[in-house]
Amino acid sequence: MKQELSSGGMSSLTSPSRRDVIKTLAAASAGLLFSPNTLLAATRQKKDRLGVALVGLGYYSTDLLAPALQQTKNCYLAGIVTGTPSKAEDWKKKYNIPDKNIYNYQTFDQIANNPDIDVVYVVLPPSLHKEYVIRAANAGKHVWCEKPMAISVAECRAMIDACKKNKRSLAIGYRLQHEPNTQEYTQIVRTSKLGKVLKASCGAGYVENRTNHWKQNKELGGGVLYDMGVYAIQGARLGTGMEPVGVMNAKTSTTRPQIYKNGLDETTTATLAFRTGIVVDIKTSFGENINYLNINCEKGEIKVSPYQAYAGVAADSPLGQINHKYQVPWQQAKQMDDDANSIMQQKNMLVPGEEGLRDIKIVEAIYKSAATGRPVEI
Ligand code: NAD
Repeated sequence: MKQELSSGGMSSLTSPSRRDVIKTLAAASAGLLFSPNTLLAATRQKKDRLGVALVGLGYYSTDLLAPALQQTKNCYLAGIVTGTPSKAEDWKKKYNIPDKNIYNYQTFDQIANNPDIDVVYVVLPPSLHKEYVIRAANAGKHVWCEKPMAISVAECRAMIDACKKNKRSLAIGYRLQHEPNTQEYTQIVRTSKLGKVLKASCGAGYVENRTNHWKQNKELGGGVLYDMGVYAIQGARLGTGMEPVGVMNAKTSTTRPQIYKNGLDETTTATLAFRTGIVVDIKTSFGENINYLNINCEKGEIKVSPYQAYAGVAADSPLGQINHKYQVPWQQAKQMDDDANSIMQQKNMLVPGEEGLRDIKIVEAIYKSAATGRPVEI
């Protein structure tokens, strides 16, 4: 921080007249020399817990993130952003949130002037992620953003750029990457404890009974590949420890065309190809409960099931069972504590924006392959 101050505004103090010095110091003390972001950042460094504002008080914020923020040690629920006044009232009472930390989508940018809020957590439908991540970063806040990061690679890049420009951290809410069972099988793969990976398959899906939600609305980021498909893509990447170089055999379908209209995918399957020649079959669906990752290695198979449940991930392998136990919403608390700690320690985020972008690149390739019926290089 010292460096930022001395290499920034103070350079104007080179060989000054006495009057210039007095003028410059007066401007500095009025906060005119340094951006509000720099000054807020200076205050933030001293905190031992970060204040988090949740943007969008739907299912995930209500049922998982707010309860998790009652358990976290490195951060706490400091504010909310909602378009529904009755929700603001309910949350204010339930979580003791002061009026000055409650925003709606029109007043949101004023969050820049609120030192209680260090992190803005965007928990909106995917098509709104880009706008709110960029507004939060421009307001000088660190940003956490739910998966899928956005609905295009171009949007992901704009979000990463905005956070970089404002020197703010950006993390994507992939809770599993903070989860100990996931970390354990990932480590087995990365260190080749069971030899090379020969093949894998991953499925992520559930029966979605809502018929008129953003998940069925393309403009808002609907379609199963964005919502659940990114879990299957993460499984393919974590389960091989590699990045896919191509997509084949991609197919989108629906058995409920009255709900999944105009080609919107209720189910998507694809084969991801990797440089070593191995392939991973993925399946994602809003019409079927599927939750597995199978990793065939030279010395045996790792079977992860459930692969992505809130209550726990469990795996069997020739090296024994992987099954660290915990209660809901521990995963979300762990994720937010990890991310808050990284911000306070000025470390890189475990799951940065670039990680969300990698998945959206693959999503785009799968949709392109499904539309053209041809393999697509990534
Ligand atoms: P939800 O529909 O329950 O909530 C979305 C919220 O956004 C609502 O409060 C809604 O009022 C608000 N909103 C603001 N503008 C809106 C608009 N124009 N249209 C629709 N809603 C609008 O959704 P959710 O299940 O809470 O999902 C939110 C985000 O969280 C998504 O990105 C989703 O993928 C993600 N999510 C992640 C996990 C996880 O395990 N990491 C789990 C569930 C959801």
